[in-house]
Amino acid sequence: MQMQVVNSLKAHGLKVTPQRVTILSAIEKKGHANIDEIYKEAKTTNPTMSLATVYKNITSLIETKLLKEVAINNQKSKYELSKEPHSHLICKECGSLEDIDSNNLFTLNNDKIDFDIEEVELNIYGVCNKCKDKGTSKN
Ligand SMILES: [Zn+2]
Ligand SMILES: [Zn+2]
Repeated sequence: MQMQVVNSLKAHGLKVTPQRVTILSAIEKKGHANIDEIYKEAKTTNPTMSLATVYKNITSLIETKLLKEVAINNQKSKYELSKEPHSHLICKECGSLEDIDSNNLFTLNNDKIDFDIEEVELNIYGVCNKCKDKGTSKN
């Protein structure tokens, strides 16, 4: 798992530092994580890591496109390792976030839109299954 992280750092022309490996491993483990979650997770393997270091490294990892920021309404941004374009199902109740392939989610009629669509990335807000179950058990 760490080897993969090391390889992607090299592939993006970045120096392999323990901080970057720790941060990327933390994000890889969680799938999507906000700054606090990354910091908390990173500290379990690297107790001396400061929040400022996490911020600084995340910024450079985004610049080199190794990481991707997912901006979410009324929530802190989450970060994920860059992969195929996809959309997110975001629960308004618990804030959980799930990947969904969106390239064929909408059948867009090219006759109506004079635009070459290459990728679709959306934030779709709603209520996840877990929270839905909670809601119905109360009634
Ligand atoms: Zn939920
Ligand atoms: Zn995602």
